[in-house]
Amino acid sequence: MQQKTIKRPIRYRGFGILFGKESRITLRPAPPDTGIIFNENIKAKVKNAFVRGLVLGLRSGKTKIYFVEHLLAACYGLGINNLFIEVSGKEIPFADGSSLPFVRLINRAGIRSYQARPKIQNLKTPIIVSKNDSFILALPAKTLSIDCFVDFPQSRTGAQFWGDLINQPNFVKELASARTFGYYRNYRLLAKVLPFEIKSEEGMIVPKILRYRNEAVRHKVLDLVGHFALLGRNLNAKIFAYKSSHKLNHRFVRKLEAL
Ligand SMILES: [Zn+2]
Repeated sequence: MQQKTIKRPIRYRGFGILFGKESRITLRPAPPDTGIIFNENIKAKVKNAFVRGLVLGLRSGKTKIYFVEHLLAACYGLGINNLFIEVSGKEIPFADGSSLPFVRLINRAGIRSYQARPKIQNLKTPIIVSKNDSFILALPAKTLSIDCFVDFPQSRTGAQFWGDLINQPNFVKELASARTFGYYRNYRLLAKVLPFEIKSEEGMIVPKILRYRNEAVRHKVLDLVGHFALLGRNLNAKIFAYKSSHKLNHRFVRKLEAL
């Protein structure tokens, strides 16, 4: 395992779903042991992270950048440990609501490996965070794997499961293209973005044509992987997530970081 960055700068622009404005990002290569840094001084670290509504943000002083999770998941999934990200606007572009456009972007820029090895986090004992009936449990293991369950009894999404090793091929093939979903009351602008539509009977906004039968639970795993990018270490653990959310994911990585 080696630390990685991208080979050359690359740009991307798109609609921002939270503020309804166009947003632009530029990714640039960064030296070993830099980590991921937004706008020169906002480090992608657990201590700088916050959850607002249904998205993950990063802050430094009064500066905030929203909706970083799908870009960070792409970085973690592809093993990118070092990256400078410049953002014009307050949020990362929505793209198609998944990590796939960012995976393609990083692959277009090319991936450069360094001699330096990434930091690793191994667990000595099980850890758990929970709220009501939702929980995330991690057991010591030599690799990272996630078993995730969701259950939305009121909607057609219903109960779903996905579980496998989290490595680069699985991330790209099984998780990266899984798109977000949500309740209309939380995600008003999502309704304007094709190809999403409102299932009005449930107030849910879901993709019109699913990429996977269990796309929703795959997206839950993708979001959790996005939070792992804030650890600055490659996590080895066997994880069981039941009805996880950004808030619970955030509490989970805070606990991991404190170990
Ligand atoms: Zn998401």
